[in-house]
Amino acid sequence: IQVLEGRSAFVTGGSRGIGAGIVRSLAAAGAHVTFTYARSPDAAQALVDEVRATGGKAEAVRADSADEASLVGAIDDAAKATGGLDILVNNAGVLVYATLDDTSLADFDRLFAINVRSVFIATKAAAAHLRNGGSIVNVGSVSADRAGLPGASIYGASKGAIQAMTRGLARDLGPRGITVNNVQPGPIATDMSAGHEDMLIPMLPVGRLGKPMEVGALVAYLAGPQARYINGASFTIDGGFLS
Ligand code: NDP
Repeated sequence: IQVLEGRSAFVTGGSRGIGAGIVRSLAAAGAHVTFTYARSPDAAQALVDEVRATGGKAEAVRADSADEASLVGAIDDAAKATGGLDILVNNAGVLVYATLDDTSLADFDRLFAINVRSVFIATKAAAAHLRNGGSIVNVGSVSADRAGLPGASIYGASKGAIQAMTRGLARDLGPRGITVNNVQPGPIATDMSAGHEDMLIPMLPVGRLGKPMEVGALVAYLAGPQARYINGASFTIDGGFLS
């Protein structure tokens, strides 16, 4: 059964990696998915074509998450085009993996603009459209709970902010019938983790990195009708990486 049939979903950063897995999962569950991209128009169009070829509904729009007007405009347009909004997934994110000496203030500002500030912008814009029964799912990281290695300070801080913002927003939006949750992946096979597999696999009890669609399945569940009592929570999906 297509549990998200008739729902309108907006996903940031859907052109590649985990975001593309989320787009595929939400569309397979019946949602009409609008997703953003910044630098990968060809990958975005290929994903739209793939979803439509299997009978799903997807649209791609260029919107840099660091640009407030662009992100708000994309959300307003998607709500108008699809007759409202039911699901927001704040997925777009960047990684700065460097120790203190090699991390600049410009790195910090760019990382927080995309990983944290844009989540506030998108959530505020989407909240104007989200219906009762709606859901927001943020994509955090296990880095919020454990650094594990040197070089994770500002990335981990950005994902810690998402964990805390999720709890606060759950309080703010719960009374409107909107849930807010946080999915915290461990290592997932995407461009972001590419090249680090040899280091990561020995740290993973399941012996492999996760797949974007495995994160997508959890997001689709949290956005669905079975999950209405789940609110303000963070979920680890990491193959046992933190265990
Ligand atoms: P990728 O680098 O593989 O993909 C990033 C996606 O985000 C792309 O679709 C990219 O679009 C988009 N994006 C990046 N910057 C912007 C921007 N400024 N505006 C709009 N879209 C943007 O990353 P992942 O799929 O691996 O990561 C997705 C999320 O998951 C991030 O929040 C990340 O922190 C988190 N995460 C990832 C883990 C992993 O192991 N991979 C582990 C834990 C969390 P485009 O190419 O069009 O620019």
